[in-house]
Amino acid sequence: MDLAQDILDGDRRALARAITLVESARPDHRAQALALLDGLRGAAKQALRIGLSGTPGVGKSTFIESFGLMLTAQGLRVAVLAVDPSSARSGGSILGDKTRMEQLSRDPRAFIRPSPSQAQMGGVARRTREAVALCEAAGFDVVLIETVGVGQSETVVAELCDIFLLLLAPAGGDELQGVKRGIMEMADIILVNKADGDLKPSALRTMADYAGALRLLRRRPQDPTGFPKALAVSALEQAGLQAAWAEVQSLATWRKDHGHWANRRAAQAQHWFTEEVRQGLLAALTQESIRTRMAELGTAVAQGTISPEAAAADMLATLR
Ligand code: GDP
Repeated sequence: MDLAQDILDGDRRALARAITLVESARPDHRAQALALLDGLRGAAKQALRIGLSGTPGVGKSTFIESFGLMLTAQGLRVAVLAVDPSSARSGGSILGDKTRMEQLSRDPRAFIRPSPSQAQMGGVARRTREAVALCEAAGFDVVLIETVGVGQSETVVAELCDIFLLLLAPAGGDELQGVKRGIMEMADIILVNKADGDLKPSALRTMADYAGALRLLRRRPQDPTGFPKALAVSALEQAGLQAAWAEVQSLATWRKDHGHWANRRAAQAQHWFTEEVRQGLLAALTQESIRTRMAELGTAVAQGTISPEAAAADMLATLR
């Protein structure tokens, strides 16, 4: 049995097994996962990686269901992954609820993977990144990476995707919602959802407000004129989704044609390299023997028997 070949052949069960493998914390599994990923590297065509963020209740799962079904109806293969910042605390999972994306989950052209339910952000990010690579190797055209908007997870998703979508709800008044500037700056397209029924006027107003706010942001070199932009959609009534997809594609094409696509992926690869080293060092610091030595040296420093600098040098030598 060749797991790599099965993945390349688009075998979904092989893909699911491989993702379980990269999610495993066992050292022997980790070694196998790294070998697998290494074997698959470069073999894959590039998928379009779309990040999607929004607060709970804004309509992320409804949107992914509608948007995903629209794409699969066009013959595209769509994978959905999640970065779930809450899972570290609750053990829950944003895609764990089986009732979410019911139709899409039964679609043979779709693959939905709940987020891993342990580990801190660093670990979740690594697993999601590796799952993205596996989906790409399996030949998916679009990989949607979903996250709940709480700040930290958006930064992770922005470092994983080619295009970042921010889903917002219509605001009550005509005030901008408390969206942090940093998150707005990460977004390539802001989608104001629920532009239907009674909510439609406020959705359109909210969209105009954001369009105005986005125009005040400095245009980024990786963007053509008009981006980032705000659109109104209704995930429930499947309105505006074709337009949103057209915008995503036009931005992706522009970035590919101007070298920004490859640059972004290269920068992301460097980011994850330093991040992995950082995580590895942090993990080394939490080892029992290292912690004991840290505590001993800390006490010695406090008692004045060794200088902080000498103690730090001793500690770093131990780590090496
Ligand atoms: P999530 O928590 O972001 O995944 O949000 P859900 O997709 O679960 O949606 C939360 C609620 O908003 C549900 O009751 C949906 O039916 C509703 N909803 C989602 N999209 C729309 C939409 O486009 N229009 C309207 N009116 N309601 C929507």
